[in-house]
Amino acid sequence: MKAHDGMYIDGAWRPAAGTGTIEVTNPADGTLLATVPAGGPEDVAAAVRAARAALPGWAATPPAERAARLDALRRILTDRREEIARTVTAELGSPLTLSQKVHAAVPIAVCTGYAELAAAYSFEERLGNSLVLREPVGVVGAITPWNYPLHQIVAKAAPALAVGCTMVLKPAEDTPLVAQLFAEAVDEAGVPAGVFNLVTGLGPVAGQALAEHEDIDLLSFTGSTAVGRRIGAAAASGVKRVALELGGKSANVVLPGADLAKAVKVGVANVMSNSGQTCSAWTRMLVDSERYEEAVRLAAEATAKYTTGDPLDEATRVGPLVNAAQRERVTGYIERGREEGARLVAGGAEPPEGVERGHYVRPTVFADVTPGMTIAQEEIFGPVLSLLKYEDTEDALRIANGTVYGLAGAVWSEDEEEAVAFARRMETGQVDINGGRFNPLAPFGGYKQSGVGRELGVHGLEEYLQTKSLQL
Ligand code: NAD
Repeated sequence: MKAHDGMYIDGAWRPAAGTGTIEVTNPADGTLLATVPAGGPEDVAAAVRAARAALPGWAATPPAERAARLDALRRILTDRREEIARTVTAELGSPLTLSQKVHAAVPIAVCTGYAELAAAYSFEERLGNSLVLREPVGVVGAITPWNYPLHQIVAKAAPALAVGCTMVLKPAEDTPLVAQLFAEAVDEAGVPAGVFNLVTGLGPVAGQALAEHEDIDLLSFTGSTAVGRRIGAAAASGVKRVALELGGKSANVVLPGADLAKAVKVGVANVMSNSGQTCSAWTRMLVDSERYEEAVRLAAEATAKYTTGDPLDEATRVGPLVNAAQRERVTGYIERGREEGARLVAGGAEPPEGVERGHYVRPTVFADVTPGMTIAQEEIFGPVLSLLKYEDTEDALRIANGTVYGLAGAVWSEDEEEAVAFARRMETGQVDINGGRFNPLAPFGGYKQSGVGRELGVHGLEEYLQTKSLQL
């Protein structure tokens, strides 16, 4: 695939300071897709300098003009959506249909929303004798993961640019190609030089240099809780703002009386989609003891339909995991589940039948999972569903809230009021009731160790603002 051999800094593709490279491979068959430069502290410093220099001009640009650039960006991404989908499928391994419907379509929807918000948002208000100004926070350092590679970039870049911030992005090393495509689109959209900068590189090198750079005003990170903790510590020592979107272990609570067949079908789909590499995946399904065995049977049956295979084949519903390390990690958890006494009812740690290459893991379901088991507590980030049994609603709530995470969740009930009442008591940032659809305007983010701050919609926009009051 075509790739740039430089960094996008100050409005142009420039050679990297060092000679290190990253090989981008196709997780479905291990073939080399492209080589991109691995940036280091010097590249990060150049990008931050460019972003700092561009800040006053972009911050002073009328919101309507910034909105027009975002609208142009939306148009370019829309024109290139098939290329986006194919790039994500090549470097992430997601089935092409998923790449088209989600990996390409969602960022375009988010970009559309922010183009509209940028024009409509009120950056000033009168409060008694005060004039309250909402100003851009400044230079943003953004570090993103590979699992929804373009979405994670757009969820940060669109609101940041909308309000007048400038940005340096360090995308995940597994998926730099769609990040390069995004930089091309920003350039073509007429966003001024230095407003958006891209440094590809390794997390502990380029990522760390960005997190520790003194001239960043806000560090926005999406990734694992382990790395997020380090980023938070680095930001604290520099008294920088920080936004952390981290891991999850979300509960899918099927209340007695809910449509079990639908809840299980949608619940399985939610976990298997993107090979389970979704931070908000409902990885723990909670079912009352009376209907538990029926739920186990339905989940095993539904999972059998999730065929693994070539992401370009239309029949494929589950592609490979992103890399060998993730496959090892996930199969390790499957083995751990068996050792700790969970009952394997679908899938398992051995590769799917007939698979000779690629980082594939069988869609897997465990029954008889108890709340204290490792697979019920730790984020697996693979196509693995755990079914847990509860005795009554209070027990369900205790189990649902019984992890260090709190990112997402689901509640199913025949009575919507009952579901909403239950959801109010869940310690989590987002709950889908009876399969409620994704809303790109709704705030997304974590309670507890799932993070700090919110993305998407107006709440996401305000993360990039700081407030000044003038007393008149
Ligand atoms: P990761 O934490 O390993 O990497 C994320 C990013 O951080 C990458 O760009 C990586 O290069 C960089 N990085 C790694 N080490 C670094 C360091 N020492 N300093 C600075 N940057 C560093 O996570 P991942 O494996 O890419 O992604 C999976 C994780 O992301 C999962 O835990 C998942 O739940 C989480 N995630 C959260 C959300 C959310 O919105 N809450 C969304 C997607 C993924």
